[in-house]
Amino acid sequence: MRITNNCPNCGRSMELDLDNLKKYCSYCGSKLMIDVENLSAVLIERERTKQLLSRYEEETIQRTNDSTDKTLAIMMVAICAAVAVIAICSVIKG
Ligand SMILES: [Zn+2]
Repeated sequence: MRITNNCPNCGRSMELDLDNLKKYCSYCGSKLMIDVENLSAVLIERERTKQLLSRYEEETIQRTNDSTDKTLAIMMVAICAAVAVIAICSVIKG
């Protein structure tokens, strides 16, 4: 599990290695221990992020279903129009 925050040395984003309680900066090479007070804040944030993500995914799935319905409706209209054209043609020929 990795979360980013800012390096106190160069200000760029650091990788947080929560499994090893360390964080490191890939730009300047700084390595620090994660302090536990901040860690609990990070964990709360992580839980909140997870909730937000799952809510976002639900909304995305909902939106995908909507667009699928719309595509199906358009296809049905196109098929009906094609059938109508074929019917009209056969009437004219007959
Ligand atoms: Zn740095």
